[in-house]
Amino acid sequence: MIPKKLGVLKKECAIETVGDLLKWYPFRYVDRTRFYTIKEVSDELPLIQLVGRIEQVQLIGKDRAQRLRAVLKDQTGSIELVWFQGIKFVQDKLKPGVDFIVFGKPSLFQGTWNMPHPELEPYFPEKTLLAPKLQPVYPSTDAMKRAWLESKGLSSIINQVLRWSQGKIEETLPDSICSQLNLIPLEQAFRQIHQPKDATELQQAELRLKFDELFFLQLRLIQTNRYNKTAIKGFAFEKVGDYFNRFFAEFLPFELTNAQKRVIREIRIDVARPIQMNRLIQGDVGSGKTIVAFMTMLIAIDNGYQACLMAPTEILAQQHFEGLKGFAEALGLKMSILTGSVKKKARTVIHEELESGELHILIGTHALLEDKVIFKNLGFVVIDEQHRFGVAQRSRLWAKNILPPHVLIMSATPIPRTLAMTLYGDLDTSVIDELPPGRKPIQTKHIYDQDRIGVFEFMKQQVAIGRQIYVVYPLIEESEHLDYKNLVDGFDHLSAVFPAPQYHLSIVHGRLKSDEKEYEMQRFVKKQTQIMVATTVIEVGVNVPNASVMVIESAERFGLSQLHQLRGRVGRGADQSYCILMTSFKLSADARTRLKTMCQTNDGFEIAEVDLRLRGPGDLNGTQQSGTLDLKIADISKDAKLLSYCRDLAKTVIENDPELTLTENIRLRETLDSIARKNMNWGRIS
Ligand code: ADP
Ligand code: MG
Repeated sequence: MIPKKLGVLKKECAIETVGDLLKWYPFRYVDRTRFYTIKEVSDELPLIQLVGRIEQVQLIGKDRAQRLRAVLKDQTGSIELVWFQGIKFVQDKLKPGVDFIVFGKPSLFQGTWNMPHPELEPYFPEKTLLAPKLQPVYPSTDAMKRAWLESKGLSSIINQVLRWSQGKIEETLPDSICSQLNLIPLEQAFRQIHQPKDATELQQAELRLKFDELFFLQLRLIQTNRYNKTAIKGFAFEKVGDYFNRFFAEFLPFELTNAQKRVIREIRIDVARPIQMNRLIQGDVGSGKTIVAFMTMLIAIDNGYQACLMAPTEILAQQHFEGLKGFAEALGLKMSILTGSVKKKARTVIHEELESGELHILIGTHALLEDKVIFKNLGFVVIDEQHRFGVAQRSRLWAKNILPPHVLIMSATPIPRTLAMTLYGDLDTSVIDELPPGRKPIQTKHIYDQDRIGVFEFMKQQVAIGRQIYVVYPLIEESEHLDYKNLVDGFDHLSAVFPAPQYHLSIVHGRLKSDEKEYEMQRFVKKQTQIMVATTVIEVGVNVPNASVMVIESAERFGLSQLHQLRGRVGRGADQSYCILMTSFKLSADARTRLKTMCQTNDGFEIAEVDLRLRGPGDLNGTQQSGTLDLKIADISKDAKLLSYCRDLAKTVIENDPELTLTENIRLRETLDSIARKNMNWGRIS
């Protein structure tokens, strides 16, 4: 291949090796398995191919209006072929009396059928039988097209590569796995994905290549998980002591749900071993993750260690602190909060108490990560709202003791099972799949802007019976200025509809200083205001059980998981709660699906599944940075079954042969090694 093309491939698609090129899979196929007769031509047909004899070829018109016209005839009728461009080129090819295959989209013009700009190929019955019949279509950019690397050009290069690499492509799977699943050899799969003769060949190839992606991903994750569990030493918390037991017996304000009990048990088993725990708790908003975190921190303290909890925002850290302060005091434990806004003097005190061991629990934001924050004996780390922290940030907490502390990650964004398997396959996962008793499902309604008056009436009724209300405006960075204006306009409007002294409103947004924000939040928490007008700063964590109505403005601009998070701010008390999604009439199909899903279900996992389907895995929170989802052909939203199968198989393989040293597993080890070489920056998730 000429160097210029190589350069373009590298720049546009990161294709550097033969392997990369073979993995540049077609994104669709044009069906050329079937020939139509001219009589069958109708409006509904997509691209079709016809075979027939060329009858007349004539140039019509002059200069720029010039076009080339030919007639194609088969036993059933005739159709006109027309070209407006590249006339000279076609003219040379097109010979009257010769049989051609034409391929294109038929259209009706002034009562006769014609096919503008069809692809042309002389018809030789023997050769046509051999040619691939599902024609691959490759993704290609403008720069690629300029370098003759449009779909056709790529196809011909890939064909050359396929020919050249015959007999050179190393098989990655042991024969036993291939035969067990009826998988075709890898080399054959590459040929069949690029040049399938029919749908069966294509399916065989897809299955084999998807299997490779998912299986090796799982194999790698499970091996990492096993390595973490055997090689990464940690502190063994040998006992469950006084703090935990006293809290459980005397201070726990409610009965734990079975799911909470189960998860606490799972964590207890983990931390009792001299191996670092890496566990993810998945639980829907309001499922009660905080108390689980707190109680497991007590186990650390029972064993003479300190614990910390890191939250993504100051407001959240503050809420955790406020929520847990009472418990800590009751138990005689010292707990502090460290955020960016803690003044130097208070900060110094915290630093000292941490180092002396006086401080048992530290709650905070990423300020906890600073080097100056030195613990006497940190043993347990809780990370709330996992997706907001980067991998590198999190790993800095590890270095805060001689051995790495146990790590508990709490994810408030439910992730579909399949995605969890792929993203967090090397973490152990606990699920709180049960809400505390007595919660009434939130009622959600989609309402158009023009029916706003009814919404105001409803809000007034709710305030009259003592409830509080959130009104949320979108905040999207690119149009921050405009969003701010919307928020302020909205606030003015609401202030007019809900005038003082009968009503009081709070407003919170990103432009306020953190103490101003705090002041406004506190007014709302203390019920001094009935309506909180805010941007998405309240998205995570905020807990005001008396708030029972969530009004989301321009709801079409929010993603599903964000809508679900916002809705989770209400429905925290015993009262019936409501979520109202306000939009204009103009909505995209995806936006309609999002709104409909919200109205139909409160189940975060179900919502996450729809989100995954709508957006694809690459878009979900935190997945971009993780680098784990380098899937070219498998799609975790569609290939869930295959993924589970691969995971189970990978587990079995690693259980039987952890280091993959058996002869039968040599191909697996070599493949993993070569993936690792290509993927040097593959790191641990936490
Ligand atoms: P999240 O999982 O969203 O972080 P929280 O931990 O904030 O949820 O809990 C939500 C609310 O439910 C809190 O007010 C908490 O005190 C309460 N809660 C937690 N567990 C229970 C339980 N088992 N029974 C009753 N209320 C509970
Ligand atoms: Mg929470």
